[in-house]
Amino acid sequence: MTTQLSESPELYSIHITLPENPLKNLNCYVLKTLERNLVIDTGFNRPECREALLTGLAELGVALDRTDLFLTHLHSDHIGLAELFAVNGSTIYMNPVDYDYFCAIKRGEVWGYMEDLFVSEGFPADELELQLTGNQGRRYAPNGIFPITPVEDGQELRVGDVVLRCVTVPGHTPGQTLLYLPQPQFLFSADHILFDITPNISVWKGVEGSLASYLESLKKIEALPVKRTFPAHRKEGKELYRRIRELRDHHDWRLEEMLQAVKQHPDSTAFGVAGHVKWSARGQALEQFPPHHKWFAMGETLAHLYHLEAQGRVERRKEEGLYRYWAR
Ligand SMILES: [Zn+2]
Repeated sequence: MTTQLSESPELYSIHITLPENPLKNLNCYVLKTLERNLVIDTGFNRPECREALLTGLAELGVALDRTDLFLTHLHSDHIGLAELFAVNGSTIYMNPVDYDYFCAIKRGEVWGYMEDLFVSEGFPADELELQLTGNQGRRYAPNGIFPITPVEDGQELRVGDVVLRCVTVPGHTPGQTLLYLPQPQFLFSADHILFDITPNISVWKGVEGSLASYLESLKKIEALPVKRTFPAHRKEGKELYRRIRELRDHHDWRLEEMLQAVKQHPDSTAFGVAGHVKWSARGQALEQFPPHHKWFAMGETLAHLYHLEAQGRVERRKEEGLYRYWAR
C-alpha cells in the first residue's frame, strides 16, 4: 500500500507490515526525482516485508537500478532488506557509528557481551535462550554485511533537484541519523520522535549515557523549523514540538518512578527494579511478560538507572557477581 505525501518534492510512503510486532508497521519513504530516487529504510529481512517493499516500489514505478537507499539506524526493521539494494549497485547511505555497531553484531561481538551484562544486572539466565525466539531484531537482521557510503551530521545529500540534510541524533541508537529537507521544512524523524508510541531507549556495548544523548538530541530537533514530520512507525505527527515536550516529560517521570522504586526496595538488582515499575503491556506485571519483552524492559530500566547513577542520585555496587542499587 502506497500513499502520496507531497507533490513537490514528489514523496510517497510504503506501508511495510511488521507481523507480530507491537510497532505494527514501518513507513518506508520514497523520494522520486527525474534523475534518481531515494528510499528511506526497508523493513525486516522476512518475506512479508520484502513483498510489501517490492510491491510498493513497483506500484510507484521505482526501479532499483535508479534508486539509492538511506538507512536511519541499525535496527533490523530499518535495515533488514538493505542487501536488495546492495546487489543492484545502489548507494547505501548510513551513519558509520551505527554501521560499525551493526558490523560488530554480525561478527558476533555484541550479543554475548549484552547477555552477560543483563545477567549481572539480575536478568534470569534461564530465559536468555527463550527470549531469542521472540526477539525479531535478532531473527530478521540482514544476512550479511553490505557496503555503505558513510554520512555525517550536517552533510547535504542531493537527489535530483532535492537537497536533504543529515541530522545525527544519538540516543535511540548510538548514531541514528535523520533527514531534513530545509525546503519545504520536512523532517524524517525515524525512531527519534514517534507520535503514538515512545521510542525505546536502551543500553549499548561501549556507549555511555544513551538517555542523556537522547534528551540532548531532542533539543537539537526542537531548534529546527519543521512543517511536516514523517516518523518511521505509525501515523504522521501533527505537533512536533508538543510531542518533544511529552517525550521529555515521559523520561523525567520514568526516572522519578525508578528512583522511588530503588528507595523503596534498596539492594535490588536492575531486574528487581524493573519489577517494581509500571509497564504499558496491558497492565501485566513483569513476571508475566514473554521473555523477549522482559529483555526490552531490562534495556529500558538500565538506561534510566545508569542515568540516575550519572546524576549521582543512585549508587550501583557489585556483590557476588550481581549489581545492586541504592538511593543516595
Ligand atoms: Zn529503532
